[in-house]
Amino acid sequence: MKIVNTVNEVREQVRAWRKEGLSVGLVPTMGYLHEGHKSLIDRSVSENDRTVVSVFVNPIQFGPGEDLESYPRDMDRDAAVCETAGADLIFHPEPSEMYHEGFSTFVDMDTLTGGLCGKTRPIHFRGVCTVVSKLFHIVTPDRAYFGQKDAQQLAVIRHMVEDLSFGIEIVGCPIVREEDGLAKSSRNTYLNEEERKAALVLSRSLNIGKELFENGEREAGKLKDAIVEEVQKEPRAKIDYVEIVDWKNLEPVEKLDREVLVAMAVYIGKTRLIDNMLLHLTEA
Ligand code: AMP
Repeated sequence: MKIVNTVNEVREQVRAWRKEGLSVGLVPTMGYLHEGHKSLIDRSVSENDRTVVSVFVNPIQFGPGEDLESYPRDMDRDAAVCETAGADLIFHPEPSEMYHEGFSTFVDMDTLTGGLCGKTRPIHFRGVCTVVSKLFHIVTPDRAYFGQKDAQQLAVIRHMVEDLSFGIEIVGCPIVREEDGLAKSSRNTYLNEEERKAALVLSRSLNIGKELFENGEREAGKLKDAIVEEVQKEPRAKIDYVEIVDWKNLEPVEKLDREVLVAMAVYIGKTRLIDNMLLHLTEA
C-alpha cells in the first residue's frame, strides 16, 4: 500500500491501473478511522480491483466556531487500518494541495441541503460537494463508498452525481455501531465517560420510534414527539434537530406512508452527534 500527498501521484497510479484494465473504488474520509470507515473499505476491496482511501480533513466544510482545529488526526493508525483492510493507496493531501491560493470555484446544490444538518451548518454541503467533486476528478473511480451514518450527505452526493453526470456508482453502506448502540464516529473521542453514557440517548430514542412504527403508528408527529421526549429525559443532551423526512427529497412528511428518514443531531455537552434510521413499510 502506498501513501501519497499530491494529485499528480494519484493520477499517475490510477492511470497505470487503468492501463491494466483494473477497476477502482474510492472511500472518501476525514481520517481517524474506525470500524465504520473500515466497513466501507472492506466493501470497496471486495467490489473493485483497487481501492483508494482519501484521508483529508476538509477545511471548507467546517463553519466558523466548528471543530476543524480539534478534529482528531492519527495518520499512522489510519495507515494501519487501511493496510489491514487491503486498500492499495491512501491519498493524504495538505489543504494547500486541494485548495491552491485563489481557489474560488464551488459546487453548490439548491435542493436537499437546506434542512436537517444544512440548517445549523449552512456552508457544510457546499464544502462536501466541492471536495467530493475534486476527489472524483482526481481519482476517477468506478464506485465510491459512503456511509448511511451521514444520510443527508449520501442523498446529496447521489443527487450531485446524477446532476453533474459523474458516471460513478455511489454505494451506500449501513451504519456501524458500538455494541451498546452508539453509532461509531471519529467525534465520539470528544466524549468523557459521563457523556459517552449520555450519548446512548440517540440510538435509544430512535429505537423507541422504530418500535412505535412497528406497532402500527403512522403519524410522523407522534413518532417525532416520542423521540424528542426520550432525548429530553437526558440532562446532558440538547437537541439540534429531530426530523422525519421523505428519503427521496428530504422534505418533512406527515404520514409514514413511504420510505422515510428519521434523522437527528443532538449536542452531548459540546459535542454534536448525528444518528438516523430509515423506515419503510414492508409488503405484508
Ligand atoms: P468521515 O470521516 O466522518 O467524513 O466519514 C467518512 C465516511 O465514513 C462517510 O461516508 C461516513 O458516512 C462513513 N461513516 C462514518 N461513520 C460511520 C459508521 N458508524 N458507519 C458507517 N459509515 C460511517
